[in-house]
Amino acid sequence: MLADSWFNRTFLNSPQQPESVMHQQATLNGRVAIITGGATGIGQATALLLAEHGAQVFVGDYDPIERSSQEFSRLGITEVKCDVRIESDVKQLVDRAISVGGGLDMLINNAGIGMVKQITDVTEAEWDACLDTNLKGAFLATKHAIPHMRARGGGSIVNMASNAGILPRAHDPVYSTSKGALVAFTKSIALCHSVDRIRVNAVCPGPVGDTRMMNADLDKAADRVATENQIIAASPIARVSQRMISPREVAEAILYLVSDASAMVTGTCIAIDGGKSLGVPPALK
Ligand code: NAD
Repeated sequence: MLADSWFNRTFLNSPQQPESVMHQQATLNGRVAIITGGATGIGQATALLLAEHGAQVFVGDYDPIERSSQEFSRLGITEVKCDVRIESDVKQLVDRAISVGGGLDMLINNAGIGMVKQITDVTEAEWDACLDTNLKGAFLATKHAIPHMRARGGGSIVNMASNAGILPRAHDPVYSTSKGALVAFTKSIALCHSVDRIRVNAVCPGPVGDTRMMNADLDKAADRVATENQIIAASPIARVSQRMISPREVAEAILYLVSDASAMVTGTCIAIDGGKSLGVPPALK
C-alpha cells in the first residue's frame, strides 16, 4: 500500500479526522442542544463538536469529570448534574436549557452503561440499571424535550444505540436488548412526531476507543492487548485500519443528523461500526 495513499491518510494516520467541507458548512448558530452522558467518551466529543459549530450546549451527566469541565467552560458548555434514570433530574436538565438557552432544538440521548453477563447471572437490579439508563433515560428526556421542540416548530433527536442494537451479541444480551429497544423507540417516535417536524434518528457505533466504557471492559480483560486486537478484528474497516473508531467519528455522524444537511432524514439508524454489523469479515489478503 502506498505510504501517502488516501487510505493511509484517512484511516491509519489521522484517527482524529480533519474538519470536512460538510462541517465547515454546517452551522448550528443560535441552536440549543442537550447531550446526556456527556462528561466523557462519545458524549464529550459530541458536546465539543456541536459547540464548535455554534450550538449552545447543555451536558447532563451523573458523574462529571474535572478534565471535561475545563474544556467545556472554554466553549461555554453548561454542565448539569443529572441521572437520566430519575425523571426530576431529567426535567431539571431540560428546564435549565430552556431558561438559559431560550428553547431546545437538539437532544442527544447518549448516556449508557454496558452489561457483559449471561442472562442466567443477571440480577433484577442489574437488568433495571441497564434498561433504565439505556432506554428509560431516553424516554424521559424525549418526553420532556418534545413539547419545547414542538413550540420551536421542530427539532432533532439522536439516540445512541449500538452495533448491538442491529445485531445482538452473545456476550451481552441485556445490553443488546436495551439497544435493540432503543432502535425500535427511535422509529416509533420518529413516526409519531413527524407532524411536529421533529426528526428522530439513531447512531449505532461499533467498537469506540478512548471511552470510559471501553476502557473499563479492557481493564477487566486478562490480556488487554489481545482483547483489544480481538475487538478490532471483528470490525472489517477497524481491522484493516488497525484501530478502533474514535469518539469524534461518531460525533461527526451526530452533527450530520442534527444539522439541516439531514432535513429529510428521520427514523434511520446510521451504523458507524466499520462494517461490523455486515457479518464475519473476509480473510486478510
Ligand atoms: P462512556 O462511559 O465514556 O460514556 C458514558 C457516559 O454516560 C459517562 O460519562 C457516564 O457518566 C454517563 N452515564 C452513565 N449512566 C448515566 C446516568 N444514569 N445518568 C447520566 N449519565 C450517565 O462511554 P461511551 O462509549 O462514550 O458511551 C456513550 C454511549 O455510546 C453509550 O450509550 C454506549 O452504550 C454507546 N456505545 C458505545 C460504544 C463503545 O464501543 N464505546 C459502542 C456503541 C455504543
